[in-house]
Amino acid sequence: MKVLFVASECAPFVKTGGLADVVGAVPKALFELGVDVRIMMPAYPAVAPLLKSGTTVWHSDEFLGGKAELRSVRAEGLDLLLLDAPHLYDRPGSIYLDGAGQDWHDNHLRFGALCRAGAEVCLNGIGDWKPDIAHAHDWQAGLIPVYLKQANAAAPKSVITIHNIAFQGLFDSSVRQILGIDDNMFTHERVEYWGKVGFLKSGIALADKVTTVSPTYANELLDPEFGMGLEGLMDHRRSDLAGILNGIDVDTWNPATDKALKRNYTSRSLKRKAENRKQLEDRFGLSSKPGCPLFCVVSRLTTQKGLDVLLEVLPDLVEQGAQLALLGTGDPAIEDGFRRANEQFAGSVGTIIGYDEELSHLMQGGSDAILVPSRFEPCGLTQLYGLRYGTLPVVARTGGLADTVIDATPENVKSGKATGFQFAPVSKQELVKVIARVCDLYQQEDVWLSMQRAAMRYPVDWGSSAQAYKQLYEQMMDDQSINDGNLK
Ligand code: ADP
Repeated sequence: MKVLFVASECAPFVKTGGLADVVGAVPKALFELGVDVRIMMPAYPAVAPLLKSGTTVWHSDEFLGGKAELRSVRAEGLDLLLLDAPHLYDRPGSIYLDGAGQDWHDNHLRFGALCRAGAEVCLNGIGDWKPDIAHAHDWQAGLIPVYLKQANAAAPKSVITIHNIAFQGLFDSSVRQILGIDDNMFTHERVEYWGKVGFLKSGIALADKVTTVSPTYANELLDPEFGMGLEGLMDHRRSDLAGILNGIDVDTWNPATDKALKRNYTSRSLKRKAENRKQLEDRFGLSSKPGCPLFCVVSRLTTQKGLDVLLEVLPDLVEQGAQLALLGTGDPAIEDGFRRANEQFAGSVGTIIGYDEELSHLMQGGSDAILVPSRFEPCGLTQLYGLRYGTLPVVARTGGLADTVIDATPENVKSGKATGFQFAPVSKQELVKVIARVCDLYQQEDVWLSMQRAAMRYPVDWGSSAQAYKQLYEQMMDDQSINDGNLK
């Protein structure tokens, strides 16, 4: 079975968040199950060095304003199709934002081109490789199902995965001419969203199947509180919607072999975490307080992630004798808040504003607990890394966080099932309470150790979820009732 992934980022090449981790990891797990996945993504400057090693499998002299070619490259165990279109992607800085922090003015072209090229491969193949399934990820790939439905030729079936419904890719209705979206597509059942072209909306409306990254988030998406205006459409697609939980790459994230750690460890040698903690204390300017829990946060600094609430409870956290190491970038106001906290609570709160993959590993290896107080969280990955590293997750009871962390209730602690802490709702009061619970349990060394071991035993690999994707693809290929070339 051949599957084309289309996405705007892919680890380890280009990453701004969890989407990249997933796009980089699932194909490897699917390969083990006999599924041949190729990943199409833009050739941003970060991947330009790879272009030399590839072969050109398609080209155009005029592709939405400039020359473009598709280079087939094998790197880091992945088969990539890099869309090299310098007029769209060869620019410095963020892959989504310009120097002023605004969306690139031509994002509709940049990601519309990605979808056009993806559809081209789906419809005509490259050499003797033609996908059976097109798998679009997030809004940047949302027009793939549109182009496939518009085509007169037989097209592969398509699935879109929603990694975060908050990012929808909305553009002025005039872009549909340049993007080649047929007029009959511009209806509210298909591409139109309140007078605009909605990339994610289009994908959800027109893909044969829709998935999201956890069962709880799949349910939440039907609710106006989480559906971000698309809850009605989600409800309409309910019978085609599945929540397939994300996993993590357990080779990259392995405390026994992770080169970013000062000292490697397993569930039998958890005392060695102390050496990583020491390293972390030095990096973050924290004083040594061995008897007190060290919390960490590795995150985008946004209100989605609830980090404005964390700022409010820092005095309580410090008062309880706990410490915090935070790494992140995001909203300027939240960044400033944490910079100030670094001064105000020197020695107890250490913050580094920036993006640092290697340091994020050390944080999992050296902290006692990882805080994820998100207001909504489609799946979340840092709590999964926490489980794998015996760094107990402290999470809001929402989305994938609710699905992956077993709360330390008295019953769960007694039965040895507990792997972390859940709280709800995301409020100052509840966050203070859960931090107190963590501090309390941390003093019970035996209980803490058995929770760490339960966390490290918890399956976080891609095994069963890759199987679920494969089954979905098989089901789509068998189902003659879908994608018969007609619009739904
Ligand atoms: P989201 O995709 O919403 O940002 P996830 O938890 O799904 O959240 O994934 C975030 C990913 O990005 C994780 O792999 C996390 O370790 C990483 N990450 C987030 N911020 C940083 C940072 N400042 N430095 C390094 N890695 C980060």
